[in-house]
Amino acid sequence: MTKLTSKLAMEMEDKYGAHNYHPLPVVLSKGEGAFVWDLEGKKYFDFLSAYSAVNQGHCHPKIVDAMVDQARTLTLTSRAFYNDQLGPYEKYITEYFGYDKVLPMNTGAEADETALKICRKWAYEKKGVPADMAKIIVCADNFHGRTITIVSMSTDPDAKNNFGPYTPGFVTIPYNDLDALEKELQDPNVAGFLVEPIQGEAGVYVPDEGYLKKAYELCKANNVLFIADEVQTGIARTGKLLAVQHEDVRPDVLILGKALSGGVFPVSAVLADDEIMLCIKPGEHGSTFGGNPIAGRVAVAALEVVKEEKLAENAERLGKIFREELKKIDSEMVEVVRGKGLLNAVIIKPKNGKEAWDVCVRMAENGLLAKPTHGHIIRFAPPLIITEEQLMEAVEIIKKSILSFE
Ligand code: PLP
Repeated sequence: MTKLTSKLAMEMEDKYGAHNYHPLPVVLSKGEGAFVWDLEGKKYFDFLSAYSAVNQGHCHPKIVDAMVDQARTLTLTSRAFYNDQLGPYEKYITEYFGYDKVLPMNTGAEADETALKICRKWAYEKKGVPADMAKIIVCADNFHGRTITIVSMSTDPDAKNNFGPYTPGFVTIPYNDLDALEKELQDPNVAGFLVEPIQGEAGVYVPDEGYLKKAYELCKANNVLFIADEVQTGIARTGKLLAVQHEDVRPDVLILGKALSGGVFPVSAVLADDEIMLCIKPGEHGSTFGGNPIAGRVAVAALEVVKEEKLAENAERLGKIFREELKKIDSEMVEVVRGKGLLNAVIIKPKNGKEAWDVCVRMAENGLLAKPTHGHIIRFAPPLIITEEQLMEAVEIIKKSILSFE
């Protein structure tokens, strides 16, 4: 049989796979901690962490052991029956985040959809919004996933164009704009405000200090649910367990995904208190895989690792060092450095026709993987188990790569 090389693997993806992604030309075959290796054995720092799903590091032994052990015992029962892992997981995660109830799903997009459904149900059954009139306020440049309803809320033409007709019931306001929020909240049919505490996919937009707190208070004053999409920002990424905790906000509805499993298995969740969550009755929502025994075991292990290895503290401390170091890079190409914890981005000003993509290709050659978003922004989000020594080594690669265009 022909030996699989990176070249062949890329050709196969191109030929047999839908062209819905444009990956950097590197074929990964192994991961451990903050590192990944390609098929030819070259080692890289992973500064994307699968879009913040691998916060606990690649193939974390405790999480993988939990998965393998559970996979040998019981994988899937559906929710037609109880299973012995779900209850303990639900107890653990609700106590961990401080909510009455959890609704388990698989992907981030599904969890967002779930939150929207819960919000609408609450609007009709508790708030008294007339049938089919509920509105949910969302922010421009949001990213919540790829389903029809979610792209209906998007302002990104690539995500949205030619996927209509769109789901109605959403009102878009600019991000980080409290006046716009206050104005829209005057409508008594508004049921919820869905927001990312930091806009990740948009390019790590950190809102003004106080924005989330004030937005939450405005929602409360108008009997509107504050729904936080922490799929990317949650689970220690920004230097706190949740990004909203930087402003002492407790969302009415909390959406989690990605690192909830440490990146080994699709696990997502929506958390809320009884008053909200119990609006959903048997048969009104669900998923064959949601709440399966492997997911439960894996999520408990992944959340334990976050606490045991103090990942939030590490992200907070190393994030500050990282941003300081990036700001020291003496190049016009580094236009802006921003972020929180270990969710950071650099806006790249093109130079001599070289753009963020070229910087990422150069960094890959030098042993560090990151990916541009929206053409001119590079997101830097290493696994949170990274050490200061490793981080400084990575900074040298980033520096060297950018300066190579001078
Ligand atoms: N919400 C946010 C904030 C995200 O960043 C993402 C993915 O990047 C999603 C939702 C969608 O998650 P998934 O790709 O697991 O559906």
